[in-house]
Amino acid sequence: MAPTTDIVIIGAGISGLAAGCYAQMNGYRSVIVEAHDQPGGLCTAWHRQGYTFDAGIHYIFGTGEGQPFYELWQELGAFEGVEFTNQTEFMQIHGGQGEVLRVHSQPDALHEHLLTLAPEDAKLIDAFCKGVRKFKEFDLSMLQQKPKSLMTATDWARLGKQVLPFMGVLGKWSQLSLSDLAGQAQNPFLRRAMPHMFAWPDVPVMVGMSLLAYLDNGNAGSPVGGAIAFSRAIAQRYLALGGEIHYSAPVERVLVENDQAVGIRLTNGDEHRAARVISACDGRRTIFDLLKGNYINRRIEKLYDGHLPMHSQFQVSLGVNMDFSHQPHWVTHLLEEPIAIADQPHAEIGVKHYCFDPSLAPPGNSVVSLMVTTHYSDWQGRDDATLQADRLIDRMAAFYPGLRSAIDCVDVVTPLSYEKFTGNWQGASCGWLLTKDTLPLMIKGVPKRLPGLDNFYMVSQWTEPGGSLPIVALSGRNMIFEICREDGRSFKPTN
Ligand SMILES: Cc1cc2nc3c(=O)[nH]c(=O)nc-3n(C[C@H](O)[C@H](O)[C@H](O)COP(=O)(O)OP(=O)(O)OC[C@H]3O[C@@H](n4cnc5c(N)ncnc54)[C@H](O)[C@@H]3O)c2cc1C
Repeated sequence: MAPTTDIVIIGAGISGLAAGCYAQMNGYRSVIVEAHDQPGGLCTAWHRQGYTFDAGIHYIFGTGEGQPFYELWQELGAFEGVEFTNQTEFMQIHGGQGEVLRVHSQPDALHEHLLTLAPEDAKLIDAFCKGVRKFKEFDLSMLQQKPKSLMTATDWARLGKQVLPFMGVLGKWSQLSLSDLAGQAQNPFLRRAMPHMFAWPDVPVMVGMSLLAYLDNGNAGSPVGGAIAFSRAIAQRYLALGGEIHYSAPVERVLVENDQAVGIRLTNGDEHRAARVISACDGRRTIFDLLKGNYINRRIEKLYDGHLPMHSQFQVSLGVNMDFSHQPHWVTHLLEEPIAIADQPHAEIGVKHYCFDPSLAPPGNSVVSLMVTTHYSDWQGRDDATLQADRLIDRMAAFYPGLRSAIDCVDVVTPLSYEKFTGNWQGASCGWLLTKDTLPLMIKGVPKRLPGLDNFYMVSQWTEPGGSLPIVALSGRNMIFEICREDGRSFKPTN
């Protein structure tokens, strides 16, 4: 049977939407099939009783005009009708004895504050803040500008020249996690608080430094209206380019004939035939379910058997009849006595309010999220998430008097919810767990084609370990770049 379209894309998350946009820009007819009833995948938000609850996006790199990743989002129409807010303080960490660590994004302010907090750790603090200053000049997007498989000797030489001034900081801060760094501090509060400065203790220090640097550069904003506003803008761009999205259309099989992908079949039996198939959803599900594990090799088995997913989270979103705007917008509370959530002790609870975006709550009211990093396995076989949420609210109400009685609306999300609504393995938030040990994997990349199967391609946070919105969008962009090259077309990122 003849293909009815050039490319069918599985998933309307940011990687799938990006692949679709660049496909259309380059003259390919494409169709996106999406299991959910709206675009965005993990980059989403939902409405409940007059409140909008975000799935958890804290910042998007590339929102500062002329800065790294900005052009990418412009190409994708992500700024069309969307405004962004910027924070000067990433979060605060509160200890049990009234100690407060303010994670300023401005390196001089951070330096001064940390020195007041822990003068005995001046050497460590100097080095850390110096690193943040250096990363202000670092263009993270340079590593993904072009598909690695298409880079020429000239491209590599140019990249080498760009990276050279940063070799020192990259070498030093990619090999150390925040927990490792905190372990070097003498001050007891700094030792305890530092791993949680970016809500991710295993993360290589350079990732946190880049985050502060980009925040300080005004290049890491949050979309007004929540993450869904951002996703909808890109979906709109795709449709305007002539693309087609089919929602509530879960794919159950990639159709293969003579070892060539020829389309997809939905769970309702409908088929879409295409000359090429791009999977922009969970890698494990793609390889082992949609393709029944028929196209694998040792490298792929080793990757999927041997690596952990990024932690997921338990998030209790509250719509409250209370004004939180005078509170710091994000506090991680270090509990003296841990609270058991899903039978696991947790001593760090994040509380974030969204008053910086008044569109998310009725006037005078607030959206407040309680966040706990958690493992998928803790939630398997449980159906008491509401009860767990209730206990967490009770515990947090001690820090926010009046909270309990001001609650209008509660929404609870566990790793099982992220898995159910986006199909991501174990509800992972950013694909593979990115640590100092897995960082080389990110730089090298993971397979985007499967052995023995033609006309089939993979993008998403599972092909770019560490995920994040600009990186997965580039993953979609780069795949179309490669397809253009296969067809002898020159890639153009505009319509
Ligand atoms: C709590 C949280 C906080 C985060 N914070 C940030 C942040 O601050 N900044 C940042 O840059 N990134 C952040 N991220 C990461 C970022 O959201 C993800 O890396 C990115 O959205 C992944 O996009 P994707 O297209 O690869 O996959 P997904 O978003 O998972 O999209 C995959 C899509 O495929 C669909 N799908 C799955 N299976 C099928 C099927 N069988 N048939 C049809 N469709 C299917 C899904 O419904 C989904 O829409 C965060 C993530 C989470 C969860």
